[in-house]
Amino acid sequence: MRAWADSNPSLFPEPTTKEQGGWIVQRGRGFEVLRWPSLHAAHNSIPVPDEPAGENVVGAFHTHPNLGDDQISSASPRDWANFGHGRYPHYIVSNDGIYRLTDVQEYLGPLYPHDYSALLWAGGVAAAVGGGIGAYCYAHGC
Ligand SMILES: [Zn+2]
Repeated sequence: MRAWADSNPSLFPEPTTKEQGGWIVQRGRGFEVLRWPSLHAAHNSIPVPDEPAGENVVGAFHTHPNLGDDQISSASPRDWANFGHGRYPHYIVSNDGIYRLTDVQEYLGPLYPHDYSALLWAGGVAAAVGGGIGAYCYAHGC
């Protein structure tokens, strides 16, 4: 995923090791990713911008590129506060795989699964957003 590469994941976070994130919006029958600005992001935080006006936001994501001692792959307490129990799922992309945060947290699978069929969606929004972000981003880049 482009956002993951852009995060410059590292055991020893550098200034370029920054969380990345974005909105997943539905446009017509397709989905697009609107990336968040990362200017003020750090290896363990990123400012969340306002939802884009006039878009049908169906999901959002951010990365956890810090691989060092204080690594948290899944949702941090702050992530729960910001993104848990939301109107749409939030995805956390980490070196250990992708997590989906709704009212609960679920592990969806590795970032680069060998079997993409497990993540491919059947065409519905729920399925696409629910399970397909890995495959979607692999195919479309995000
Ligand atoms: Zn986070």
